[in-house]
Amino acid sequence: MPDTRPKLTASPRNLDALIVGAGFSGLYQLHCLRERLGLAVQVLEAATGVGGTWYWNRYPGARCDSESHSYNYTFSRELLNEWEWSERYPEQAEILRYLNFVADRLDLRRDIFFNTRVAAANYDEGANQWRVSTADGREFRATYLITAVGCLSTTNIPDIPGLKSFAGDCHHTGNWPHAGVDFSGKRVGMLGTGSTGIQAAPVIAQGAAHLTVFQRTPNYSIPAHNAPLTPEFKRWVRENQDEIRAVMHSTPNGHPFRISSRRALATSAPERQAIYEAAWAKGGLQFRATFHDLLVDKAANDTAAEFIRARIREVVKAPRTAAALSDIDHPFATKRPPIDSGYFETFNRDNVTLVNLRDEPLECILPEGIRTRAGTYALDTLVLATGFDAMTGPLLGLNLTGRGGLTLARAWREGPRTYLGLQVEGFPNLFTVTGPGSPSVLVNMPVAIEQHVEWITDCIAHLRRSSIRSIEPDPQAVQQWVEKVNDAANATLLPQAGHSWYLGTNVPGKPRVFMPYAGGMARYRGICAEVAGRGYEGFHLTPDPADAHKGGQLRQA
Ligand code: NAP
Repeated sequence: MPDTRPKLTASPRNLDALIVGAGFSGLYQLHCLRERLGLAVQVLEAATGVGGTWYWNRYPGARCDSESHSYNYTFSRELLNEWEWSERYPEQAEILRYLNFVADRLDLRRDIFFNTRVAAANYDEGANQWRVSTADGREFRATYLITAVGCLSTTNIPDIPGLKSFAGDCHHTGNWPHAGVDFSGKRVGMLGTGSTGIQAAPVIAQGAAHLTVFQRTPNYSIPAHNAPLTPEFKRWVRENQDEIRAVMHSTPNGHPFRISSRRALATSAPERQAIYEAAWAKGGLQFRATFHDLLVDKAANDTAAEFIRARIREVVKAPRTAAALSDIDHPFATKRPPIDSGYFETFNRDNVTLVNLRDEPLECILPEGIRTRAGTYALDTLVLATGFDAMTGPLLGLNLTGRGGLTLARAWREGPRTYLGLQVEGFPNLFTVTGPGSPSVLVNMPVAIEQHVEWITDCIAHLRRSSIRSIEPDPQAVQQWVEKVNDAANATLLPQAGHSWYLGTNVPGKPRVFMPYAGGMARYRGICAEVAGRGYEGFHLTPDPADAHKGGQLRQA
């Protein structure tokens, strides 16, 4: 493999900024800091190429749930004009092509070190620098450290007895072999029925001799109705870029559609049914936008939940399988709602079996397959669609140590604590793009990413203009923000999922905390702008010693 690392030109030991990750966030952050602020900045990326999530998640059926015309950067008219999506929902390979196109178009590769995994990062208080060491023993130093590591990039491998003894191929969907996996003639077992498993099952079933889906928790899913984009739609997108962006910026979830102001329970049953049917026929996440109160009123939510359960029972022919798939016990959309291409229909195929782990709990994995209480299922290939150590996992994996030897693991032992999801107390000049406490995963990700990257860029510009040595959040501001994040979640049904990766309960031992900010992207954008407008209210700004006579430490809380 050719060495794609940039040559060590200027002194990399004293960079202005280091960015970890070359996905959507890292690429744009590099562009902003280099081109808008003229900083010496480099990106460290563990993979051999750009793409982040879309580099690693190459499993069969991998596709984005955001509609393609909203799943791209909007900051550049040139990029918007030069790129055209082919389908309603972009598939993984096309998104990866898009991010490579952006990297080329903005000439980003020259400042990215690929094959470079961060092993640890320590804040050197005396030098006011982050010292970042890599798994292969190199060291980088920079004033600002920006994590652009994604929210769903640390795979969750379940601790199932015997997993390592499995004699066949075993792959986690989030770390899928680049050469693909040949399922032909194979008996495939798949664990996991979240967004990933629901996308993968129909495609695996088409290629395998047999697919057995082991379901622990049934899930809602809305049909995607994916299709090639028509020339008319592409033209409409080109001609309405500003309007599309304005809608994405004004909605709570950053998608290019508005949430209805109707209330489900204030709508007559026949009309409500007609609205659900129309949304079902249209497909996609817009189903969630049919009524204003679905995520705040359990009785309203029940109407959507029951509508979906009825569709599952209609589609799936075998009554026992239909019952197991529709026996869903969390309110609709309190876990991230998947959208699918023929998921429930897949269970009507002769070569697909559903194993309901509620009836027959999984006991162990054997070299020859999976054993449940009811017996052994012989398998050649195992697919783990078992999700991620979300949001905190990728950050804790960087082994960050802040002021006074405080590790992030210690600072977050009871759950993540941030100010605005952007900064952590005790970790000066560290910025976390789409960190816990920001809307991130509840939002169409590029919208959340652009806002964070632009806020961080403006903040760093302010620090440099004002001769500020370091910035970190005030403890009181962090406490208030943590409470705001909790209040925002508790104002919705989201915590009622009982068990979800939003709450961290999918990873044994992880503190149970609702991690993203559920108050909505538009509101959050306003809060961040206000904080900046008030001179970075809630942050400690420490002036350079040379400027200390101008007023000592600036406390902006
Ligand atoms: P997930 O939603 O966390 O689902 C993991 C699945 O694995 C669950 O069904 C879980 O069951 C099951 N599981 C975990 N450990 C298990 C065990 N020991 N035994 C049996 N089953 C086990 O993960 P995901 O499907 O990868 O999705 C994560 C997120 O990634 C999504 O919510 C979404 O935000 C994002 N994503 C997006 C797209 C897209 O845009 N198209 C596609 C894929 C993923 P339990 O529920 O019982 O724990």
